[in-house]
Amino acid sequence: MQTILAIDDSPEIHALLDVRLRPEGLRIEHALTPAEGLAMAASLQPDLILLDVEMPGMGGMEVCSRLKADPATSMIPVIFLTGAEAVDIKVRGFDLGAVDYVTKPFDPAELRARVRAALRTKRFHDMLAARAQLDGLTGLWNRGYFNQRLADEVLAVRRYGRVLSLVMIDVDHFKRLNDGYGHPFGDMALQRIGETLSTHSRATDAACRYGGEEFAMILTETPGDGAMIVAERVRFAIEAMELRPKGKPVLVTASLGVIDAAALGDPAAVTSEAMLMGADAALYRAKEGGRNRVVRGG
Ligand code: GH3
Ligand code: MG
Ligand code: MG
Ligand code: MG
Repeated sequence: MQTILAIDDSPEIHALLDVRLRPEGLRIEHALTPAEGLAMAASLQPDLILLDVEMPGMGGMEVCSRLKADPATSMIPVIFLTGAEAVDIKVRGFDLGAVDYVTKPFDPAELRARVRAALRTKRFHDMLAARAQLDGLTGLWNRGYFNQRLADEVLAVRRYGRVLSLVMIDVDHFKRLNDGYGHPFGDMALQRIGETLSTHSRATDAACRYGGEEFAMILTETPGDGAMIVAERVRFAIEAMELRPKGKPVLVTASLGVIDAAALGDPAAVTSEAMLMGADAALYRAKEGGRNRVVRGG
């Protein structure tokens, strides 16, 4: 359900918005002061803000400027609630980043139509933003998401002493698969591996395509022993995939490197780079040791 935040100093306006917008099946939250509105916008992350132009203290224009200046609220669309004849105010509102305005007293049908239009655009925007973090071939998180997420999780290790593991996965002799059975088969194998990683990760984990035929799993609240179990399951599941290009079974395997933050020593010194280097070094040893195996680093 999409959420609307109404910021207006008039309780009557809030009551009216409730009545007019209820048929739309939306959640409507109310703020009676600009300060309350700014705080609620940041914490609630509504899909749309209806913002009164005229409020005592900080006016709607100032509130809009602050919403647009704060990265936490800058992407939330704003519709101004304005008086009838103030054309210059409407122009200023658009210049400040508002997507639309509604004139008081509201025409119910017009209000609903403008709200619907703004929410439609927001939904589309959210979809594109989400898609920009996904890998097109496998549907896993992409490298950009991986980098950000690993940085966030590493920060949680440093700040709160959280438990964290990282698994890097590299398909064995993938060049041979491509050369022997064609690039489309290689792509299909990567998709199947992507499905396998999804199956073996929890909601709090992040299964990512790191690039090419390399994958990564960020395992939160998972110590090294637990990560080894996950990695071994993944290794086995890849080996057991049963791919059959041209009807003949082909064995696909992968090598995995595991590192947990605790293996790097002092939590205060843990970095993304150290995690990546630790997992990579372990992965290299897995390759050297004969491939199709899991090695733990640190
Ligand atoms: P190793 O066991 O040492 O990892 O051998 P490898 O052949 O897997 O290693 P290498 O990194 O040299 O080769 C990776 C190959 O993966 C090269 C590249 O053509 C192929 N590749 C990278 N991205 C894609 C992709 O999206 N689709 C397909 N089909 N192939 C890809
Ligand atoms: Mg007012
Ligand atoms: Mg590789
Ligand atoms: Mg490889």
